[in-house]
Amino acid sequence: MISIDFTHDPSRESWVDSANDPGSDFPIQNLPYAVFHTGDGDQRIGIGIGNQIIDLRYLAEQGLLLDEFVSPCRSDVLNELMALSGPQRIQLRQLLSKLLVRSTDADQVLMKAGLRSQDSVEFCVPCRIQDYTDFYASIFHATNVGSMFRPNNPLLPNYKHIPIGYHGRASSVVISGTEVIRPIGQKAPAEEGGLPTRSPAVLLDYELEVGFFVAQGNELGSTIPIDKAEEHLFGMCLVNDWSARDLQKWEYQPLGPFLAKSFATTVSPWVVTMEALAPFRAAEYHRPEGDPKPLDYLTSDENSSKGGVDIQLKVSLSSQQMREKGLPAEHLSQTRFTNMYWTIAQILTHHASNGCNLQPGDLMASGTVSGPSRDQRGSMLELTWNGDANNPTPGTDRTPLRLPTGEERKFLADGDELILSGFCENSEYRRIGFGQCRGTVQPARR
Ligand code: MN
Repeated sequence: MISIDFTHDPSRESWVDSANDPGSDFPIQNLPYAVFHTGDGDQRIGIGIGNQIIDLRYLAEQGLLLDEFVSPCRSDVLNELMALSGPQRIQLRQLLSKLLVRSTDADQVLMKAGLRSQDSVEFCVPCRIQDYTDFYASIFHATNVGSMFRPNNPLLPNYKHIPIGYHGRASSVVISGTEVIRPIGQKAPAEEGGLPTRSPAVLLDYELEVGFFVAQGNELGSTIPIDKAEEHLFGMCLVNDWSARDLQKWEYQPLGPFLAKSFATTVSPWVVTMEALAPFRAAEYHRPEGDPKPLDYLTSDENSSKGGVDIQLKVSLSSQQMREKGLPAEHLSQTRFTNMYWTIAQILTHHASNGCNLQPGDLMASGTVSGPSRDQRGSMLELTWNGDANNPTPGTDRTPLRLPTGEERKFLADGDELILSGFCENSEYRRIGFGQCRGTVQPARR
């Protein structure tokens, strides 16, 4: 597990003034990576600091970085940087923190030429994602969804033994702000024995998730033991796993989700590193009495005591009418990543446990992050209980959801914008944020 060092000192301030604003997601204690361009298509790697981004290619070309970091920092994607060793990643963070700290010897004039306002750049998917796997790690989400579709048997017998996942589609992972086109697909026959139909998805949904990127990978045929898993984690981001529930319902058995999910997956631009998250590690989810202990390859003392990450997550929605009327986005739910039944180390270890090779830049997403109460549910399916007025949870007044314009929602309408945000906060350290993950639903293309 990564140790706390001077880069986490909450009293540390930057010469970039906006980073010292207590509300900033990007104080000097965070230093998340992103990939951006300024309109010319020339992609660069940057570090978020306050409301600015500092160009790492520029810093490398000015001779401000050690030789071993020049090539990865001049790249147009994060993969080479993700492939550095754990100690090298810590060394680079410490170097960047020293360059950005408020001090008399930092050459601010030279570095200021490498700053861009975050508002003035376009963000890109931060690395070449060769594989994307999505999990199902919230027992609350799994139980909610299971009880809608299999009321007598909500949680399948494997759930408490293996982190359940499916292989997603890497090519349709898009950056925050990319429009999401409503998919068209097959739906179950309206009556038994009838034919399926094909039309635009009506039950379009979002899933609030957290993603993580693989750092160094493993050779085909080798595994990643649980006590080595943390070294293979690079950093985390926000993920919206858009889902067409009507397509999903017809296609998902027996091999899992397919076209109901592969039309788009949105990621936030910032990759918050595991180093930045070190002060926010938490115990793994407390399994209730009677739940089985996972098999040995998925357990370690360190994973039990520090395998969790305390990230607070929020979702809000803004309809086209709300934006036209100048109304703020409507808060839908708030939850915590400590609600997850499986840790990210267990997910990674399990993924490689059959000898499957993971590669730097592979994306894994947690699955919908839902907590025990209604206001902690991470999808529309759960919030409106599949649009069912008989929502069994107390406080069913929001089935369907009512927006401030009087509009109602059971699922997403064209023009709806979904906004995910996340941050880590505790009493000892500086608050750090993930920024936002946004996407707006566009009409189907017939
Ligand atoms: Mn998902």
